[in-house]
Amino acid sequence: MENGEWIKVLVDSELREGTPLVVEVEERKVLLIRSEGRIYACGNECSHYHAPLSDGLVVGHVVTCPWHNARFDISNGRLDAPPGLNDLASYQTKVEEGNIWIRQTGKGSIPAPEGGDDRTFLIVGAGAAGNAAAECLRREGFAGRIVMITGEAYTPYDRTMLSKDLLAGEAPAKWLPLRGQKFYDRLKIEILTERPVTGVDPGTRSVRFADGTSMSGDRILLASGGRPRRLSVPGAELPGCHLLRSRAHAEAILTELEQAKTAVVVGASFIGLEVACSLRARGIDVHVVAPEQLPLASVFGEQIGGRIRRIHEQNGVTFHLGQTVKEFAGGQRVAEVILSDGKRLNTDIVIIGVGVQPEVDYLRGSGLVVEGAVPVNERLETAAEGIFAAGDIAVVPDGRSGEPRRVEHWVEAGRQGMHAARCMLGSREGYRELPFFWSKQYGSSLRYIGYARKFDRIVFRGEVDGKSFVAGFYLEGVLKAAASVGRARELIRLGQLMEADKSVGPEQLQDPAFDLLSM
Ligand SMILES: Cc1cc2nc3c(=O)[nH]c(=O)nc-3n(C[C@H](O)[C@H](O)[C@H](O)COP(=O)(O)OP(=O)(O)OC[C@H]3O[C@@H](n4cnc5c(N)ncnc54)[C@H](O)[C@@H]3O)c2cc1C
Repeated sequence: MENGEWIKVLVDSELREGTPLVVEVEERKVLLIRSEGRIYACGNECSHYHAPLSDGLVVGHVVTCPWHNARFDISNGRLDAPPGLNDLASYQTKVEEGNIWIRQTGKGSIPAPEGGDDRTFLIVGAGAAGNAAAECLRREGFAGRIVMITGEAYTPYDRTMLSKDLLAGEAPAKWLPLRGQKFYDRLKIEILTERPVTGVDPGTRSVRFADGTSMSGDRILLASGGRPRRLSVPGAELPGCHLLRSRAHAEAILTELEQAKTAVVVGASFIGLEVACSLRARGIDVHVVAPEQLPLASVFGEQIGGRIRRIHEQNGVTFHLGQTVKEFAGGQRVAEVILSDGKRLNTDIVIIGVGVQPEVDYLRGSGLVVEGAVPVNERLETAAEGIFAAGDIAVVPDGRSGEPRRVEHWVEAGRQGMHAARCMLGSREGYRELPFFWSKQYGSSLRYIGYARKFDRIVFRGEVDGKSFVAGFYLEGVLKAAASVGRARELIRLGQLMEADKSVGPEQLQDPAFDLLSM
């Protein structure tokens, strides 16, 4: 029905201000919203993981997805912030004789470039940031040449799925690509795979490759992500010891999992815990070794750390906390992990998740790296004019405090990629997004919004051991970040309030009668 006929979908009086409704039109779900007196209609499925946007939060003409915080403008369906990919289907609305009518005006796809532009924009990296930047350039109408360069053998894929559904055997590898090759062909986005960049020259604004060739660009975006840290203990390079960052890593692990009955996971941070969960889904006996006393307590505090530990133990994971690895032992391949207290764990496979460092080796000598990462200004431009950076490698000034921060989150990388693209096209706007991340373990997502490297008080709304709760992380009485299981709308609202520099007091947050959503 694109740009087609008007269709009557609802009696006008049934759509109440602020209460979205979903109607089915020609087998598609359409979200109807009356907001600030206007009626909007758009597709109801988030273009990231198909979450029902009707479960999200609408404020003004923006809807935020309940699962991973993608934002869309409901007045025209446009993607406002990743991790969404396409725009939503958009509809015109009208009220006639007491009924709401809609007419489709757009399908949500990104238009192919039109017209000419002599410029070439280079993007180093085809991950969350690189892909979002390339797509945003076309979305904004850039008709020049876009070349996205990756050291990996694959076009952009969903890295977050590697440790979750892919490893659990619940998602086939064919679900990984963010887009099909036809999409990039249509948008004329060139992707060079298996072409690691070996150097960047800010003077000539060019990148070099291992074979001595180089390529120059009118603008360059550096979005090379991170690389997993290695463990420098004896035996860490034995076959059977794995890192997990890339699809190639995941494929190597998957091949060995077919024979594995026991696994040792080193590290109890997000990757380690998600891997532990995925291996339990395969019935593998899992041991997690980590130096901390409680998983993720430095991020979420002890109560949530305790919850995470209990859920893993209830699902059969054995923790060896307060322990480090002294040695990986074995002949042809790893067979034993020897811990700092001398305990020996037999194992068929080891997965090491002990942190990530920015992938900046190729920038040596460029003058763009400070303390192992790439600082940028509020427009995400590096010290070199015309060269931008986004994602895991970038140290970005916070949009409110100016405090420099570097985070390793999928959504943040995509948003920075999109923002950098606009700045490559000349936008002078500063980056203001708050970081958001999620981790899915045993079917439940823990979501976090904000940035609280330090906090002196955690306040809970709901029971931390219950099915759903919100936690607020305060420093000197100011809300710095919030986490939740379930209760997506409240988390989104807290994010919006923090973004607008409005704090919610601890007493208000923990008072179940206090209506956060109407703040
Ligand atoms: C297994 C796993 C699960 C994760 N799960 C979550 C999650 O649930 N939630 C969350 O918020 N975050 C998650 N993350 C983190 C998230 O994936 C990263 O923060 C995000 O991918 C960073 O995006 P990026 O574009 O900066 O880098 P990447 O996505 O890492 O992309 C970097 C790109 O640069 C390329 N590259 C690197 N060096 C060169 C070079 N010299 N030349 C050319 N190309 C180069 C790489 O090949 C790659 O294409 C997860 C990460 C991993 C590894």
